[in-house]
Amino acid sequence: MAAHQEKKLAQERKHKTTQNDTQTSQVQWGRAWEVDWFSLASILFLLMFAPLIVYYFIMSCDQYQCSLTDPLIDLLTGNKHLSDIWHKTPMLTSRAAGIYSLWVAFQVVLYMFIPDFCHKVLPGYVGGVQEGAVTPAGVVNKYEINGLQAWIITHVLWFANAYYFHFFSPTIIFDNWIPLLWCANILGYAVSTFAMIKGYCFPTNAKDCKFTGNFFYDYMMGIEFNPRIGKWFDFKLFFNGRPGIVAWTLINLSYAAKQQELYGQVTNSMILVNILQGIYVLDFFWNEAWYLKTIDICHDHFGWYLGWGDCVWLPYLYTLQGLYLVYHPVQLGTANAVGILILGLIGYYIFRVTNHQKDLFRRTDGNCRIWGKKPEYIECSYMSVDGTKYYSKLMTSGFWGWARHFNYTGDLMGSLAYCLACGFAHILPYFYIIYMTILLTHRCIRDEHRCFSKYGKDWKRYTAAVPYRLIPGIF
Ligand code: NDP
Repeated sequence: MAAHQEKKLAQERKHKTTQNDTQTSQVQWGRAWEVDWFSLASILFLLMFAPLIVYYFIMSCDQYQCSLTDPLIDLLTGNKHLSDIWHKTPMLTSRAAGIYSLWVAFQVVLYMFIPDFCHKVLPGYVGGVQEGAVTPAGVVNKYEINGLQAWIITHVLWFANAYYFHFFSPTIIFDNWIPLLWCANILGYAVSTFAMIKGYCFPTNAKDCKFTGNFFYDYMMGIEFNPRIGKWFDFKLFFNGRPGIVAWTLINLSYAAKQQELYGQVTNSMILVNILQGIYVLDFFWNEAWYLKTIDICHDHFGWYLGWGDCVWLPYLYTLQGLYLVYHPVQLGTANAVGILILGLIGYYIFRVTNHQKDLFRRTDGNCRIWGKKPEYIECSYMSVDGTKYYSKLMTSGFWGWARHFNYTGDLMGSLAYCLACGFAHILPYFYIIYMTILLTHRCIRDEHRCFSKYGKDWKRYTAAVPYRLIPGIF
């Protein structure tokens, strides 16, 4: 596959041209965004309030049985003061610091020092050294794809140590959840700040840095595109996948173990959440090589948004359903459970097939079959900063002919299924679908803005051919 990509890139590079004025706008893709007041306001809001939002949700479960309104009512009526809530909040402990340090160090070891073995034994799995997409500066990075292996080793060790050797309780994560939150925040801020300093002082690739001149924007959205330490420690791949996403399934398992401990049984809703989110996580690692071609890796720079987001936001807020079910052990009727399972599986199917169609299309340069037919597409071109002209294709058939981001639609259906598993007694578990709807709609718009800057009039031809974003005929 790597050889095929080399050949494709070599063919694409043949079209080197001299940059002229009319083409300059196209070179802006992926960089030099102007910071408008709305972006700046959103960034300041998130920098100030995102850590508080995470704290508020987790504290609401710890002190108010996951009610989001009760803490506010208590504060507004003077029943409680902020200091009362704060004093009841567990602080950072040496035990949590030890667990967290060991956890992150272990993930670094798995990432850096154990080359992938899975691709040698698992048919169809793409692992080992793989190439990412071309960066705006024209660089193609290599990555060691070994996330599935890290996930498997971590989970085998988890089950062995929690249930066979009894080195720790399977509820260890739940039992230290708030002290671990402080550790995750320390790492999230440390890595984002380090990335900012590194961007100024010793960037991995200076041509792929983005300086907008606005400190807050640069801190949040990142300066360096692909910061690395040494040849292989890639910040984006590591922090995006591990420790956050490897932890996701362990966190859910810990919640299930807590239900078992508290109520003597694990509810079907907890099993559903574990299964559906487990599929999503496994899908991520099975397709980690594909992930190199997604927006997170291909287009986003590494700043607080990814650094803190991966350390804190993802593990704490993506797992709210399981946490909620520890406090409210919902047992669903069979019809509801089956309905939610079907919704989750259809959502996953759409998500996976849509992503697969684009991956296959791009990998084979359109020489493939989508739904049994040769794919239809629009030819387009773009340029990197050095003036090299590249050619690409935008597919207009398969799910990509239904809507421009039908993969997001599938993702949203799956997200809704996790939330519905928690019943309707509280809003807290629905945070995920609300958040994902905002995230993916905003992402759609952000991506389209970028694609327009990249492809110019070719992108307009594409949007004319596929007029809807998420829901055919509606949006
Ligand atoms: P996409 O995989 O949709 O990638 C968008 C890019 O694909 C565009 O920038 C463009 O890149 C290329 N592209 C767009 N249209 C076409 C087309 N018609 N044919 C071929 N290529 C096209 O977006 P993401 O990377 O955001 O998402 C990947 C998956 O990850 C999604 O399924 C999403 O739901 C999921 N996701 C999940 C999140 C979570 O928190 N759970 C967060 C974000 C995403 P190019 O420049 O190469 O042309």
